Amino acid sequence: MPSQPFSRREFLKRNSLTGLGAALAPTLLTTSPAEANAKSVTFSLAEPPALLGGKPVRTQQWPTWPIWKPETDEKQLLEVIRSGVWSRANVVTDFEAKWAQAVGAKRSLAVVNGTNALITALAQLNIRGGDEVLVPPYTFIGTVAPVIANGAMPVFVDVDPETFQIDPAKIEAKITPRTKAIIPVHILGLPANMPQILAIAKKHKLAVIEDACQAHLAEINHQKVGTFGDAGCFSFQNSKNLAIGEAGAIVSNNDLFMDRCFSYHNYGNPYGMASGVIGAGTIMQGNKQRITEYQAAIGLAQLKRLEGETNLRNENAAYLKAKIEQIPGIIPYKLYGNVTKAAFHLFPFRYQKSAFKGLSRDTFLKALTAEGIPCSKGYATLNNMPYLDDAFQSKNFQKMYPKAMLDFKSYVERNHCPNNDRLCNEEAVWFTQNMLLGTRADMDDIANAIEKIFTHADKLLTMK
Ligand SMILES: *Cc1c(COP(=O)(O)O)cnc(C)c1O
Repeated sequence: MPSQPFSRREFLKRNSLTGLGAALAPTLLTTSPAEANAKSVTFSLAEPPALLGGKPVRTQQWPTWPIWKPETDEKQLLEVIRSGVWSRANVVTDFEAKWAQAVGAKRSLAVVNGTNALITALAQLNIRGGDEVLVPPYTFIGTVAPVIANGAMPVFVDVDPETFQIDPAKIEAKITPRTKAIIPVHILGLPANMPQILAIAKKHKLAVIEDACQAHLAEINHQKVGTFGDAGCFSFQNSKNLAIGEAGAIVSNNDLFMDRCFSYHNYGNPYGMASGVIGAGTIMQGNKQRITEYQAAIGLAQLKRLEGETNLRNENAAYLKAKIEQIPGIIPYKLYGNVTKAAFHLFPFRYQKSAFKGLSRDTFLKALTAEGIPCSKGYATLNNMPYLDDAFQSKNFQKMYPKAMLDFKSYVERNHCPNNDRLCNEEAVWFTQNMLLGTRADMDDIANAIEKIFTHADKLLTMK
């Protein structure tokens, strides 16, 4: 440490000589000539931190997201727009078939977003008022809002700080006679411990709804996440690894469940096995969650690149992890032993300020950003926010649960998750997935910048 960084031009030269892996090709194609000619900043640990006026490790742009290539991506989209068939039809059906195939599920249903994929899946697994649903606190609000939307009570199970995932060892203590389901979240795109979670769910007869909204194409023992539970839910929101802007999908191998989801997403109108008596009209309580044909056309274009992008993120993440775990106080994510691929929607590590002379995480983040490395502290604690109390005050919750269960103060105490508090409030640091679509030299920049801050931590202590 540090290895000599080399310029992008040298990188291109080296790789054209050594025969570049196909997975890297998309990145090279998006490199503009100006960028390719840009001289990389010569890195020196003696240079003062950029936050204190020194030269930043890096001034080049990071790969942007989402990726759109007119030459390959626009033909079908324009055909759809010009056809005037914009509401759900053949292109959506084609996208669903291809998404099911991509994850190895029998069926897939496209819906308006990941949040509504979860709402629909929970409703069709009969999770309703009076029930409890186990969720990790280290997640996006889009995991928990669907539980409440169905009138059920979220119960938080603390996370394993090494993996950032729900800790299977802490699940059983949270199960009560009201517990009906568990939502394992493959948070940050790193797979949760599904074998252990499934064993507990089976023992206690709990439904398992995987929140795979950040985990496109992630795998455990070569099986894609989203296909382990009763249902898997995905998001195609703009930031996600398959970006449509807004959209989502449910996957499952259960035909009756999927027919019911389809019916629900179309007002409860008859579909497949969820058709009831002929001529009975609308047969189920439903909602409207259909996506448009042009969203599906965008999704099909993105899907073609997803596997190559995912492989590149895995290669860069492994390379970056191996470099930065050498720096004291930097503890990158750990993957469970059976994980054969992650999605790396985010690249997380734990920052321990004691190794950085007590430098606060906030100042570390500011200093790293100043070096040209965008980063964030990630999630805030979801298990004590006012939205929960707001739900508990609602008429439906008041009718479905005993008063003692709805006392917010005691709810927050029961749902205290100290590991999650430490990740959210003190330790977690993230890089976003688009950065992992860069080159090895880009990963070197990240590692160099962290090492530079480590070296100059005492000087940065003067910053507020
Ligand atoms: C994005 C996301 C959701 C919600 O998906 P939307 O498409 O934004 O509604 C749910 N859970 C997790 C973990 C997410 O990252």
